Amino acid sequence: MSLPPAPRKRKGWMSLTIHKILPETPDTLSFYLRDDDEKDIPFDYIAGQYLTIRYDTVTEKPVVRSYTMSSSPSQKGYCVLTVKRVEGGLISNWMCDNLKIGDILKARGPIGKFCYHEGTAKSHLIMVAAGSGVTPFISILREYTGNKHPTAPAKMTLLVAYRTTEDIICREELEKFQKHEEVKIIITLTREETDQYHFGRPTQEMLDRFLNIDESDTTIMTCGPEAMMDMVTDWGGQKGIIEEQILTESF
Ligand SMILES: Cc1cc2nc3c(=O)[nH]c(=O)nc-3n(C[C@H](O)[C@H](O)[C@H](O)COP(=O)(O)OP(=O)(O)OC[C@H]3O[C@@H](n4cnc5c(N)ncnc54)[C@H](O)[C@@H]3O)c2cc1C
Repeated sequence: MSLPPAPRKRKGWMSLTIHKILPETPDTLSFYLRDDDEKDIPFDYIAGQYLTIRYDTVTEKPVVRSYTMSSSPSQKGYCVLTVKRVEGGLISNWMCDNLKIGDILKARGPIGKFCYHEGTAKSHLIMVAAGSGVTPFISILREYTGNKHPTAPAKMTLLVAYRTTEDIICREELEKFQKHEEVKIIITLTREETDQYHFGRPTQEMLDRFLNIDESDTTIMTCGPEAMMDMVTDWGGQKGIIEEQILTESF
């Protein structure tokens, strides 16, 4: 499978200015970025790709971290990074505590092959995520919902786990996607029992219950803790999905 070309790419470090900061949950912020000279982002990307960000002033030596763009590549004018605080984590907490509108981030990319392979992939895209692992799938849903692309997946199913209701990233938007007949969203909470959402960590029994698989017609993408991705990969294998049709991304 080959990725479609991304025509505009900037070599080296780009300077992207923060134009908006949006709280998504109590511990997750979305940062809207653009190149001020171009009044846009100076590159094209594919839903699921990420940027490497360099932080020169947080510690003595520069450090880098990767963040997936949660925005849709078709959305012109900016891209969005959605960053969730990690307990004891250096950069995620620094970003959420310190960054403000007008600040500039040094960014490189876009990078990554954790993308729906338009035109060559199969027609049902199953996405399984936990926590911040949902960001590539938010981008994919933003890009493909409503069949804007002739080569978009015919069907998209997202199963995503969060701790509690207030941890659901892009909750309202996920509900809106759900209204499209080609999209099915299953939210499961691991630390709160509600009438609205399912309860418990994703398991193979849960996947069996919620995901209809047609082995000749399915791509699986999964992003989250290693144990969850292993479980999903094993499940896909049991269902007869070939290795190339199961994509994982480790945060
Ligand atoms: C391709 C890719 C895409 C990603 N996309 C996103 C995204 O869209 N959104 C998002 O929120 N994240 C994303 N991530 C994760 C992100 O890159 C960071 O890893 C994350 O934000 C944590 O970074 P940090 O600096 O806060 O934590 P770090 O400082 O790197 O710490 C990580 C963990 O290790 C522990 N730790 C640190 N140092 C030590 C030590 N010396 N001994 C023991 N434990 C230690 C910390 O307590 C913490 O739990 C992505 C990662 C990858 C690889």
